[in-house]
Parts: sequence; structure tokens; C-alpha cells
Amino acid sequence: MKIRLELQDLAHYPFLKETQEVIAARGYSLRSIIGNPENRIYLDAAVDRLRDATQSKKGRVWTDSDDPFLDILSYGLARILVSCIKNRSGISTLARYEAERAFYFLQTIEKNDALRRHIFRELDMPLLGSSMPYTRYIEITQTLREDTFRLVNRDLSQGQVFLSEEEKDLLLRERIRTLLLDQLPLDLPESVCDSLSAHVRIVQSIIAERSVEEYGEVEESRFPPCIHALFEAAVTGKYLTHSGRFALTTFLHTIGMDVTEIISTFSQGSDFNIEVTSYQVNHIISQGSDGYTTPSCATMMTHGICTGKNAKCKQISHPLSYYRKEKRANKKPEKKNSSGQKNQEKEAK
Ligand code: SF4
Repeated sequence: MKIRLELQDLAHYPFLKETQEVIAARGYSLRSIIGNPENRIYLDAAVDRLRDATQSKKGRVWTDSDDPFLDILSYGLARILVSCIKNRSGISTLARYEAERAFYFLQTIEKNDALRRHIFRELDMPLLGSSMPYTRYIEITQTLREDTFRLVNRDLSQGQVFLSEEEKDLLLRERIRTLLLDQLPLDLPESVCDSLSAHVRIVQSIIAERSVEEYGEVEESRFPPCIHALFEAAVTGKYLTHSGRFALTTFLHTIGMDVTEIISTFSQGSDFNIEVTSYQVNHIISQGSDGYTTPSCATMMTHGICTGKNAKCKQISHPLSYYRKEKRANKKPEKKNSSGQKNQEKEAK
């Protein structure tokens, strides 16, 4: 059954296919947006959307903008811009943001049951009242860590898993996130990204700034044992397997090391060739969904590069989590002066 969607509905849930019809009906296309300087506002709005996505705000609130069409277009253009930089961290940031945003609107303002049902249908989430077939449930929840979503902890009857209203929305949030992760980066012709280069550069710097904020300065002493071993091997010119090079490169890139520094890490090897290494490093860090992510501990173990595992490793399942935890635990306290204010003296010098 076709339901009538208002522009504001599509601004709340811009991943619905009807947004494409609205954009086409108004005569907009990527070519017309790139080719007309007056349409720059849409690209600026897409950059703002990505910038907003990189701000980690607890209890974030979204309000309706005065221009729902701008919201709709900025969603599509943000996907394009983040696809041009092909940065996995940027993509997962945007995916999480869009999922949170839709979840927020569903939870706080959505009164339209027909629209709710439509969204679930569109995202291939077959609901029968308050339940879902367990096969689909398993697929959707496989990326969720919470015990409450484990099948053994669910009410199951006749192949159906029962869900509360909030749980349905939480599954929808996860579905949106993973769907975007699967869809991005979009396969775009280089000429498109070239025409958007000014905005792509801004997005690149926003994502790079976020890495620095998230991980701070690169501190080798906080590396997990496996990465420490790989790093030591690389800087002393020892042989690294492909999976070792891959894990080290993705790790260093994610924590904010730039490409030149990563390449120079490998420069002591007897077989070092700057062109080959540069190609390999650039290839790894610019890959899409299959290439960018630093492997988890389980994958590191499978490849035989989980070396030097220690007690702290028991609390994590990913080398990046180890590093983050270590950085947090060893954060230097900010100096305060006698009145309890942060000491600005050093910065002033
Ligand atoms: S458990 Fe994980 S973090 Fe620890 S050494 Fe192995 S791969 Fe690295």
C-alpha cells in the first residue's frame, strides 16, 4: 500500500527511496548541483552534516530545519563527499550519525504508524505486530554486542522473536547503520570527486581532526603488544607478512598518522622501494569496506599476528580499543593553578 509522505517525513528519514523521486521531480541531479554555483548551499549543508556527525554529543537533539529539502539533499551529498575521501572511519561516523538521527525522530516525534510500518518494510525488517522471524532477527543483531539481544535471552515462539516498541526502533537503528556501511563508499567516477574537490578537502580535514581528537597524539608506548611488535619489525627493517603490513598500516592511519609517516615507517627494509610502498599504503588506506578497517583481535589471531598478548588484552576485542583505553588511562592531568583554573601559562608562552 502506497502511503503519502510529506517532505518533512523524508527529511527525517532521507534513506527512503521516495527521496530520489522528490529530488528528481524538482529537477536536481548531481550534475546540476555541481554545475551551478547557486547550488553550493547544498554542498555546504552536506559538509555541515558531516561536521555535525563528527561531534560526539551525548543526548543529542535534532530539530526540524526550515528547509526540509535542504536536509534531504545534504544527506545524499554527504554520502557522496564521504565516498570521495574513502575513509572508513568517516563512513562509519556518518553511518552511526544517520542511524542515531532516524532513531531520535522515531522515538521522540513519530506518531504516524503507517509511516513506521513503511520504514520497517523498506528496510527489509519483516514485523508481525511485535515479533520478527528469528532468521532475520539473527542477521540484524549479529553486529550488536548487548546481551539482551542474544537469541538465548529472547522470547521465542514458533520461529518469531518478540520485541518491545523500543527494541524495534533499536534494531531499525542498527539496520540503518549497517546498511549505510554496506552501501558506502559509493562507486563514483573520479571526475565527480574532482569537481567536488574544494568540499572534499574540507571533509578530509574534518575527519582528520576527529582522529586527532579521538586518539590524541600518536604514542607508540600505548600501542597494543601486537602492533608494537609489527611497528618494531617495520622500523628495524624486518620482514612483515602482508597481513602484518595491512594491520599496521590501517592501525597507524586510523590513529591519525599521515601517509608520509606511515611510508617512512617501512623505509628501513632492505627491499624498500618508495613507489611500491607508497602504492601499497595508499591502496590500503583508500580501500572501501573491505580494505580499510583494522582487523579485530580474532582476525589478528587467525593470521598469527596476535603477538605478546597480555592481561589488558582480556578486556578488549580490538587493537584500537586497547590503544584507546591505554590513552585514556594514561591521560596526563591538566595542571591547575591555586584557584582551580586550568593553567594557561604554558600555552601563553
Ligand atoms: S589480543 Fe588483540 S590487542 Fe592483544 S595482542 Fe592480540 S590482537 Fe593485539
